[in-house]
Amino acid sequence: MIGSVQMYGGLWCFPAGALDNPYYQTAKTKPSPLSQAFDARYFRDLLDDPATHKLCAKTFLATEQRIPGLGNGVLQDILLAAKIHPKHKLATLTPPERDALFTAVKSTLAAMTDQGGRDTEADLFGNPGGYRTRMSRYTVDRPCPDCESLIRKASFMGGSIYCCPACQEI
Ligand SMILES: [Zn+2]
Repeated sequence: MIGSVQMYGGLWCFPAGALDNPYYQTAKTKPSPLSQAFDARYFRDLLDDPATHKLCAKTFLATEQRIPGLGNGVLQDILLAAKIHPKHKLATLTPPERDALFTAVKSTLAAMTDQGGRDTEADLFGNPGGYRTRMSRYTVDRPCPDCESLIRKASFMGGSIYCCPACQEI
C-alpha cells in the first residue's frame, strides 16, 4: 500500500499511545464535529472562549485543531452555507449567524463524509470524492450556487479564500 499527502500532513503507523505529535494528541482529546458530543452547546462554548472571541471566522474554524480535521479546504463551503465571510469577526456574529455557523459545520462535514469526500481530492486508490465542492479554485469566476453572483478568490492569512460577494458580505 502506498499513501501520499498533499499540502501538509502525515501518515504514521505506531503502537497505541506511542505517538506524541501535538496535532494528533490535541485532535484525540476533542470531539469530532461528526459526533453527537459536538452539539450546539459545545459549539457555543467554543465561540465564547475568551481565547477565540477576537478571531475571525476562518481562523476560528481552521487553526489550532480547535475542531479536529477541519481545515482550509472544507471551511469555504461551510462559510458559504452559513452566509458568513471568512474575515467576519466572531465577536460580531449575531445569534442567528452563530446558529447558522453551527448548522453549516455539522451539515457540510456530514455531506462531505457521506459522499466519500470532496471531488477536489482523491482517495488512496486515486478516485475523486462524490461531494461536489462549491467553493474552490475550480469554481472561481463561476456563478455562486445560491445566487449566481461570481465567486471571487482572495489571499488571506496565508491561504486562499473563496467567497460569494453577495451571500457573504463582510
Ligand atoms: Zn451567492
